[in-house]
Amino acid sequence: MLFTQEHNELKRTVTRIIDEDLNPNVDEWEKADIFPAHDVMKKMADAGLLGIGKPTEYGGLDLDFSYEMVFAEALGGIRANGVSTSIGVQTTMCTPALTNYGSEELKQEYLVPTISGDLVGCIGVSEEAAGSDVANTRTHAKKDGGDYIINGSKMWITNGVQGDWICLLCNTAEEGGPHRNKSLIIVPLKSEGVSVTRKLDKLGLRCSDTAQLFFDNVRVPVRNLIGEENKGFTYQMRQFQEERLFVAARALRGMEMAIEDTIEYTGQRKAFGGTILDNQVVYHKLAEMQSELEAARALLYRTTEQYVAGEDVTKLASMTKFLMGNLANKIPSACLQYWGGQGFMSENWISRAYRDLRLTGIGGGANEIMLEIVAKKMGIYPGMRN
Ligand SMILES: Cc1cc2nc3c(=O)[nH]c(=O)nc-3n(C[C@H](O)[C@H](O)[C@H](O)COP(=O)(O)OP(=O)(O)OC[C@H]3O[C@@H](n4cnc5c(N)ncnc54)[C@H](O)[C@@H]3O)c2cc1C
Repeated sequence: MLFTQEHNELKRTVTRIIDEDLNPNVDEWEKADIFPAHDVMKKMADAGLLGIGKPTEYGGLDLDFSYEMVFAEALGGIRANGVSTSIGVQTTMCTPALTNYGSEELKQEYLVPTISGDLVGCIGVSEEAAGSDVANTRTHAKKDGGDYIINGSKMWITNGVQGDWICLLCNTAEEGGPHRNKSLIIVPLKSEGVSVTRKLDKLGLRCSDTAQLFFDNVRVPVRNLIGEENKGFTYQMRQFQEERLFVAARALRGMEMAIEDTIEYTGQRKAFGGTILDNQVVYHKLAEMQSELEAARALLYRTTEQYVAGEDVTKLASMTKFLMGNLANKIPSACLQYWGGQGFMSENWISRAYRDLRLTGIGGGANEIMLEIVAKKMGIYPGMRN
């Protein structure tokens, strides 16, 4: 992929905000189990970063997805993935379908203030009994005059406590089958009947507010429907492509930093008359992991290039997300090993990297789900073989 001066400028802007405004605060936010989402969004928005790929008439920069990928990779430099996840939900997970299929009125009401950082958005797909199996969603919306009445619940919702609105996947028909009975509906989280029952306690992403939400006879106008009724599953599957590329790009930088920090630490830590890094087993492992990261980076860039060219990248994006998810289970753990007892200490970022990056192979489609998609695209899924 060819990076222009604009790509490099964008990366510099993001890195400056991370270094000056975010990283100095992440330890405090992690301790507090929350970070000020509205303040951070506003800061990002003021630098034009919440609408990189969105049309200019809604406050965006109208740049192609390669810029969003550069943005996501740079966001991996935030030393708490809770913050980058929250930003990614805002830019790449809850807004693509609204941008592509939402009515003008809906875009003015929700997209414009989300790009300007005045509203914080959420994406509501997962439920307690339907995470990987998205088609099994039980939350439903029934029409009543000019309104939908929504009942159900959503689980593990990022920004669920601080968010202002949610892009909600719910059933809007009883017939049609699980892929043709769902819609994406925007629900303001201050609506009567919406309750945040739990802010979830987590292994990692501690400063991100991840919540369980309940919807009890929540009334929203029918005009809050994104696009056409019962096309929500398809819209969400498309929306997932950008989410998966975001997650992969963000993890790439995180893993690279884990390697960089480990080189620095093991290079000065003495044992048996030399440094830990002097051991061939250590520097070979670090060189091996850096090589694997470079291969994954090449795939990410190739996928992005093809996505920008308008090609269907379902297979490549799933492969990319799978590879990064797999590496994220391996690299931070291998790095932490070389920190010894220090790696186990909360004061050293490597322990947070180990916890935070673990989600890469679970969230937004687990590794196994990525392999299911790849296998289908390869035609080797059961029932597809002759
Ligand atoms: C911190 C955090 C933030 C999140 N934020 C959001 C959010 O903002 N919005 C949202 O909608 N969701 C969110 N999620 C949910 C996340 O996307 C789901 O956890 C994920 O999709 C996996 O679903 P599940 O947890 O129900 O796992 P399950 O579906 O119960 O699967 C459990 C495991 O079983 C295995 N598995 C599942 N299916 C198969 C299969 N067919 N073949 C082989 N193995 C299989 C996989 O290893 C998988 O990890 C978040 C989750 C976390 C932890």
